[in-house]
Amino acid sequence: MSIAEIISVGTELNLGQILNTNAQFLSSSLAELGINLFYQNVVGDNEQRLCETFLRALERSDVVILSGGLGPTEDDLTRESVAKALGRELVLDDEAVTVLQNQFVGRVMPQNNLRQAHVPEGGFALPNPKGTAPGICIPVSNGKLVFLLPGPPRELQPMFNEAVVPIMREHKLTQGSFFSSTLRCSGIGESAVAELLADLIDRQTNPTIALYSRLGEIDVRLTTRASSLTEAAVIMAPVKGEIVSRLGSHIFGEDACTLASALLQQLATSNYSLSVAESCTGGLVGHMITNEPGSSLSYMGGVVAYANNVKETMLGVSLDTLLSHGAVSEQCAREMLEGALGAFRTDAAIAITGIAGPSGGTVEKPVGTVFVAVGCRGKNNVVRLNLRGDRAAIKERAAKEAIRQLLLLLRG
Ligand code: ATP
Repeated sequence: MSIAEIISVGTELNLGQILNTNAQFLSSSLAELGINLFYQNVVGDNEQRLCETFLRALERSDVVILSGGLGPTEDDLTRESVAKALGRELVLDDEAVTVLQNQFVGRVMPQNNLRQAHVPEGGFALPNPKGTAPGICIPVSNGKLVFLLPGPPRELQPMFNEAVVPIMREHKLTQGSFFSSTLRCSGIGESAVAELLADLIDRQTNPTIALYSRLGEIDVRLTTRASSLTEAAVIMAPVKGEIVSRLGSHIFGEDACTLASALLQQLATSNYSLSVAESCTGGLVGHMITNEPGSSLSYMGGVVAYANNVKETMLGVSLDTLLSHGAVSEQCAREMLEGALGAFRTDAAIAITGIAGPSGGTVEKPVGTVFVAVGCRGKNNVVRLNLRGDRAAIKERAAKEAIRQLLLLLRG
């Protein structure tokens, strides 16, 4: 099994100003590729320490991956330090020049950007569709490989997946491959999922099962080593089927699916339109929906009806309801739903009203009390939620649960 080593470059990392998410991404990706990782290093923007760390890494590892310090400025030292440590000249890479120039079409390219088109002799540039700094691959002696990747995670991650992995495969540094499949759940706590799957988790071998929890969501991740995606699917099928039958409608999708994308997909299959009326979530449902590409197919719009008079004038909530039941009530949520359906003339709608705190709670309606109303073509449902957390957490949990409730209604 081959050995890799990571060097994260940047004084910001040593000062704790940014979290080293690149190291986490690279470590987990390497593990999935069946490559050992024995050491992770973090080095500031200092040429001598960078050279020392790099040479030590190269001595004991087959692949050395450096991230950061490829920018155009003087304190971006990675390219120069690695070239110096290897005793190689920096030469202009024609393809990198073209890539850089293409990004400055119609603008003058600052001269210092040309530094980014230099690679140590014998190396070659890796394209960077998300930024200016090309990455660099340098084959060195004994079949070892050195990769220099840009610091920003949104540039590093696609470059690793699209350029680095194929090169490592070509050099036979990877071993089989790990394949993962994630079942995405909501409306259930992590301990409840763990309890429902306890026996499966206890005797897991192949595939392995891991739970990851995020605010209002749990991922159940199955991982197996296989030679192809098809073989992995066959290995995972029985365990996956069992998990699906136990977690039932708590599973809203798989892999990259989000609650919002699952809802939009469901709406699109019936050609239904959607509107929202939000009070305590302040537009968060609309934000989650519009974060999804293609949301304009179904999503017509929403009203952020925060004040009572906006609930009255924009959504037609009756004064009587507001006075006798209060703005945070089942009745108000129902009327907000009707208001949204009427105002936007949509097939489906979501309405939310609640108390996000930290103040405003009462004994009857403590902070975290949220009413969610969902409806579609004559079918509707209202639920009362008792949510935990601070203001932001309550808003996020409420928005996600509201989307899930409409999804349940449509799938029901
Ligand atoms: P640029 O061309 O943008 O200057 P670069 O390759 O020179 O990129 P750095 O200047 O080292 O990279 O870092 C740029 C930004 O990338 C940092 O401010 C930080 O936001 C992010 N970044 C760098 N290293 C890491 C890391 N290890 N983990 C997470 N984010 C990082």
